[in-house]
Amino acid sequence: MKSYADYLTMNVPARMGFVNITPQVAAAVKKSGIQEGMALVNAMHITASVFINDDESGLHEDYKKWLEDLAPFDASPRRYAHNRTGEDNADAHMKRQIMGREVVVAITNGKLDFGPWEQIFYGEFDGRRPKRVLVKVIGE
Ligand code: ZN
Repeated sequence: MKSYADYLTMNVPARMGFVNITPQVAAAVKKSGIQEGMALVNAMHITASVFINDDESGLHEDYKKWLEDLAPFDASPRRYAHNRTGEDNADAHMKRQIMGREVVVAITNGKLDFGPWEQIFYGEFDGRRPKRVLVKVIGE
């Protein structure tokens, strides 16, 4: 079995944002030389996500509104216990929890084996600083 790893550095200039990282993941799969296997892609920070969905800007605006309704940003210590510890990003931890930590995609004939419209996104919920994403490819 072969294995290959790449670390992407993300730096989203807003507090919340989504970035299509499919080209970077596809490039890692190509570099790995693996024809049959799996690619794991995970955020290495607890206030960021990796998820799969449609690359449609209206949907991404809907996600932002939905997440803000569920876990509004509130740096004050009133709403969130986490923000009584000197932190201000409890909302970002909750947004990450609901959008997930990682995805696993099958590799078939050397390519990411997606369903229709599937793309891989990095989701940032406490941005304006560099964060890493792990791409780990295993197989033959
Ligand atoms: Zn925190």
